Amino acid sequence: MQVTDVSLNNGTTIPQLGLGVYKALNGDETRAVTHALHVGYRHIDTAAIYHNEEGVGRGIRQAGVARDQVYLTSKIWNEDIRHGRTTEALDESLKRLATDYLDLALLHWPVDGRLVAWQDLISAYDAGKVRSIGVSNFTAEHIEKLIDATGVVPALNQIEFHPYLTQPSISETCRQHRIAVEAWSPLMQGKFLKESLFRELSEDYRRTQAQIILRWDIQRGVITIPKSITPERIEENFHIFDFTLNEEDMSRIDALERNLRFGPDPENFDF
Ligand code: NAD
Repeated sequence: MQVTDVSLNNGTTIPQLGLGVYKALNGDETRAVTHALHVGYRHIDTAAIYHNEEGVGRGIRQAGVARDQVYLTSKIWNEDIRHGRTTEALDESLKRLATDYLDLALLHWPVDGRLVAWQDLISAYDAGKVRSIGVSNFTAEHIEKLIDATGVVPALNQIEFHPYLTQPSISETCRQHRIAVEAWSPLMQGKFLKESLFRELSEDYRRTQAQIILRWDIQRGVITIPKSITPERIEENFHIFDFTLNEEDMSRIDALERNLRFGPDPENFDF
């Protein structure tokens, strides 16, 4: 099974499928990462605020896969952005992960202090501590202002994205600047089972509903990071590169859009 790569605007590439580890703790994250790497995943998405970077680092080492074969993302948390601690926070993440570089560092949310934090990430990039830098939960306006102020275009924007929420305005801004879009909560946090279209497509293609949704991400050019700590689901979510949804079915999934969020709204959050 060959995972496709997406080219980023700085000349690097990112595997289009990764494992998300939000809320995985107490060794679950370590087991999930090790299993995912054994299955063939080569991309792991964590964050300082998930409090599991040490376990993620352990999971990579236990898998016996060389560090340079794994695409590793982490994120600078809001308090660190607000307090001008981006450089320190990044160094702390590197220490917890027991690695000397990240493949991708993201500003987790567009809080006050983000312009200074972005400059700090640019310095970290120049120093070789991160191979690519990007943002998360940035609206079109946040992105335009960041670029105007610093002249440096993020490589990627990680946003809530699934069949009920495709955020067309952000996607269009990202397309114009060649910023890759990465989907968080791609499986609607597991709440996709009530949608009859997924059941129907699951029968038509003889794939699970989760595989149908993740395949739709892949064909839409979106990077996707489904979370699971269950070995069978980690495997299931990986096996999406050997079938194709036809354009009519892609459009039927597109038509499910209803601007429905399962997570916080970047225009209105309080953390
Ligand atoms: P998700 O949409 O990936 O859903 C995960 C849940 O779906 C699992 O807990 C499980 O209940 C279910 N699931 C997974 N595989 C399944 C399968 N094959 N069949 C049936 N059910 C299945 O939700 P998420 O964890 O919120 O998002 C994925 C990742 O995105 C996170 O782990 C994290 O890395 C990232 N994330 C980032 C942000 C951000 O602000 N940048 C916010 C939320 C999540």
